Amino acid sequence: MTPEEFRYMRPGNLAEAVAALAEPGAKLLSGGQSLLPLMRLRFAAPKALVDLQDVAELKGIEERGSEIRIGAFTRHVDVAASAPWQALREAAEQTGDRQVRRLGTIGGAVSHADPAGDLPAALLALGARVELMGTSGRRSVPLDEFFVGPLMTAAQEDEVLESVFVPAEGKDSGSAYRKLRQEASGFALVGVAARLQFDSAGTCQAAGIGVTGVGLAPYRAGAAEEILLGTLVGDADVEKALGAILEGVDVAADAYASAEYRSDMCRLFAKRAIEAAKSQARA
Ligand SMILES: Cc1cc2nc3c(=O)[nH]c(=O)nc-3n(C[C@H](O)[C@H](O)[C@H](O)COP(=O)(O)OP(=O)(O)OC[C@H]3O[C@@H](n4cnc5c(N)ncnc54)[C@H](O)[C@@H]3O)c2cc1C
Repeated sequence: MTPEEFRYMRPGNLAEAVAALAEPGAKLLSGGQSLLPLMRLRFAAPKALVDLQDVAELKGIEERGSEIRIGAFTRHVDVAASAPWQALREAAEQTGDRQVRRLGTIGGAVSHADPAGDLPAALLALGARVELMGTSGRRSVPLDEFFVGPLMTAAQEDEVLESVFVPAEGKDSGSAYRKLRQEASGFALVGVAARLQFDSAGTCQAAGIGVTGVGLAPYRAGAAEEILLGTLVGDADVEKALGAILEGVDVAADAYASAEYRSDMCRLFAKRAIEAAKSQARA
C-alpha cells in the first residue's frame, strides 16, 4: 500500500522544527524505520512530515561534564561504533538489520517506545535521561518516567526529543546487553541490559537493570537493582535479584512465547547480562 497524501517539511534547525510541529497533524520523521512502515500500512496517516535530517543540533556524541550527550538524530550505526558503555553499543548492534541500523536513530527508537525496543533497555540500565524541546522551552525527563505504555511516551505533541544523556563510564564499572531474538522479526522476545559499578573493596555501589520485550513497555527492574546494591554480586545475590526482576510486571504472552517461557528467559538473559557486566567491571 502507499501512504495517504502528506505535506513534507525539512527544517534547517531545531527552532524551525519545533515551529513546524504547529502544523495540524504534523509528525516528526527521523530514520523512518518505524514511522514509514506504519504509514504504508495506513496505521499512521500524518498530514505533514517534519524531516529532522538537516537539524545539526540533533547530531553527534559528546562529553558534557559528568554525562555523555547523544543527539537524537544519531544513527544506530554510530551508537554501535562510538557510544560509551558496552550495553549501549551491544543494543545498537543488535537492532534490526544493516539497513535499519544505517537509517534508524536513537531519538526515533526512544520516541517510538516499542515494548520490545533494544536501545530503551540499555538506556534504562544506564539511568539515562532525555531532553525535550518544545514551544515552552527545554525540559529533562528521566527515561524510566518517559515510557508510559506501549508506543506511548511522556512527550507532548509540540516537543522534539533533542538529546539522550547517559552518565560517563566510571572506574570499575561494566555493562552488557543480552537478547533472545524472535527468529522471524529479529525483535527481542526478551532483552536485558545490566550496569554495575564496584568500589575498591568489590562492593556493588551502583546497579541498573533494563528489561525489554516482557511488559507493556521497557522497564527498569528497581527491586532487583536494590538487592544487588551493597553486595559482592555473588551467585546467591544474583539468584535473589533474578527472583525480583519481574516484580510488578504483567508478563506478555503471545504467539511466540507463553508468559511462563518469557519469564524463564527473562531470568536467564538477566543472569547472563549481570555476569557479563560484572566480569567487564572486574577486568
Ligand atoms: C525491518 C526492521 C527491523 C527492526 N528491528 C528492530 C529490532 O530488532 N530492535 C529494535 O529496537 N528496533 C527495530 N526496528 C525499529 C528501528 O530500530 C527504528 O529505527 C526505530 O524504532 C525508530 O527510529 P527511526 O529513527 O527510524 O524513527 P522514525 O521511524 O522516523 O520515527 C519513529 C517515531 O518517533 C517519532 N520521532 C522520531 N524522531 C523524534 C524526535 N527527535 N523527537 C520526538 N519524536 C520523534 C516519530 O514521529 C515516530 O512517531 C526495526 C525496524 C525495521 C524496519
